[in-house]
Amino acid sequence: MTVPDIIIAVDGYSSTGKSSLAKQIARSLGFTYLDSGALYRGVTLFAQREGYISPDNTVSDSLQAALDSLQLFFGEGNHCFMDGEDVEEQIRSMSVSSQVSPIAAVPYVREWVDCRLHSLSFSGRVVMDGRDIGTTVFPNAEVKIFMTASDSVRAKRRYDELVSKGQKADLTEVLENLRQRDWIDSHRETSPLRRAEDAFVLDNSEMTMEEELCWVRGLIQGKFGILE
Ligand code: C5P
Repeated sequence: MTVPDIIIAVDGYSSTGKSSLAKQIARSLGFTYLDSGALYRGVTLFAQREGYISPDNTVSDSLQAALDSLQLFFGEGNHCFMDGEDVEEQIRSMSVSSQVSPIAAVPYVREWVDCRLHSLSFSGRVVMDGRDIGTTVFPNAEVKIFMTASDSVRAKRRYDELVSKGQKADLTEVLENLRQRDWIDSHRETSPLRRAEDAFVLDNSEMTMEEELCWVRGLIQGKFGILE
């Protein structure tokens, strides 16, 4: 399928499989995949290591200036690197998951991340997943998908993912973390998580990846009048 140089925004609740689907879309269309959540997670790991966030989630104002010198980028295997160190595994830990939403609610952190997302997508042909891609980062994205799934399905997926990576996980804790992040993400003042009016909703609670991909390809074909 030949698709024009467009941006595809995949937003939605935590652990709805946004990144898995976005990666598959990118692979099937020959697009670049960009994980905006990884940058928020990277900033969170940085803030934790450098002591800019306290256990009660208070974020120090000094984080703003410190971000000037932070180097976060995507390297080999699409892993996230911080100042040259591969931090892919650490940014997916429960410790980072538990503090990422308060960090992502800070307006200057969002500006910092948005600036990087724009420069990484300057040439188009990008599939980006997150919470505010279709509403704030790329409000003119040509294709917008908003993903949702039942709480229990989402918690089980995230739990399995952590366990498969050899990390310690507790299903109840995972479920609680998802609900907490969704609440903070949907209620923050700056760029809250919400469906863009022109986004298509995909509830994948009972869908296979193959079915999801087929649904997206149908959406794109319909939108651009592509006959495969
Ligand atoms: O997508 P992922 O679950 O890795 O994102 C981690 C967190 O980063 C989210 O819970 C949310 O707080 C924040 N985030 C955001 N806006 C985005 C992407 C992620 O606020 N576009």
